[in-house]
Amino acid sequence: MVRPDFTPNRWTLFAGLLCVLIFATLPASNSAQPASKIRRAFLVDPSKLDDTLLARLVADGASTLVIELSERHAAADYQKAAVIASAAKLPLFGWVEVGRNEALAKAHPEWMASLGMHGDWQKRFPNFAKPAADDVVKVWPWVPIWTSEAYAAHLGRIKKLLDAAPPSLAGLYLNDIQAAPASCGCGNDQCRWAMDYRVKSTATKLTDPATSARFVADVKKLLPGKPIVPVWCIECEEIDAATSQPNTGLCGSVPCFKGLCWKEYFKQLTPVLKESGGIVAAAVLTRELGRDRAEYAKRSGWLPTVFDTFRVLAPLHDAPVVSFSSLDIVLQGWDDQPDKLRREIEQAESNRVRQVIVSLIKIDQSWRPENYPSK
Ligand SMILES: [Zn+2]
Ligand SMILES: [Zn+2]
Repeated sequence: MVRPDFTPNRWTLFAGLLCVLIFATLPASNSAQPASKIRRAFLVDPSKLDDTLLARLVADGASTLVIELSERHAAADYQKAAVIASAAKLPLFGWVEVGRNEALAKAHPEWMASLGMHGDWQKRFPNFAKPAADDVVKVWPWVPIWTSEAYAAHLGRIKKLLDAAPPSLAGLYLNDIQAAPASCGCGNDQCRWAMDYRVKSTATKLTDPATSARFVADVKKLLPGKPIVPVWCIECEEIDAATSQPNTGLCGSVPCFKGLCWKEYFKQLTPVLKESGGIVAAAVLTRELGRDRAEYAKRSGWLPTVFDTFRVLAPLHDAPVVSFSSLDIVLQGWDDQPDKLRREIEQAESNRVRQVIVSLIKIDQSWRPENYPSK
């Protein structure tokens, strides 16, 4: 048997040195040192946070508490939550649902997003009367920040909510500061890049891709020195295209994945990351967004697809890669699926994300078409 020649030469020495250097830069989890624990947060309704719930959350590994700030809650509930968090020595963050707002949609239907030019959404709502060419159909009850009127109203609302919130608030999560679901008209809940896409606007549409980033910057002024974390939904997926095999059919016949969706998505996300110091939370609401599907089984669920957005798709669109140490993962914890939730927590934590946030409150992503003007 002929042995290969292993006489070291300059190149093998160089390769050896390179290996040593690469190993030296690997994260601590790959070395012999014990891995530090991933932060685990729970998003709760402040009025339901009491000592019993706290004990349960601490037993489940809580290292942070997040409370929903909303008109539904009283300042006294926030104060009680602050006392409980402080006694347990847990940081307390706030969470605001921005884009999906029934009260604003009722008061100002003209600020609601319109379904974009593609009519494919109609396949999801076969009983909805086919609109005429000039009809404007709204995405009830989504009022994105993407009109100057709604932008100002949302900012004013957040100021009020923060005025009532406890001063010990450690930071704020902003959910749904992208545009509305089905934004291009494809019907996909994750299609969030466009506002009134090639249809008539009923308010002053904002077109600057840095609109979400500007919003984060404006909210930072309301809570100076504290982190403001945008919560981001991933766009229409490759598997949603009718030409993919297999496919979900969620984009109808619109070629969203290869079209504008992702290009525009990263034009919005890139400036947002600059404002948030690189930190972003991904909305991995698997069942709420209809991603608890057999097609994802090969990759052990939906989470790897979400990860791909930040590490594979980003560089393909000249956007910065989001490192996992800057990525929070928001999981659906409200629908009593303990085994599915546990698997997702383990998967996120084994990928060493910055923090897992289990939401015990429903983060409603639903919508339905509504004729404008509404009656
Ligand atoms: Zn679309
Ligand atoms: Zn899309």
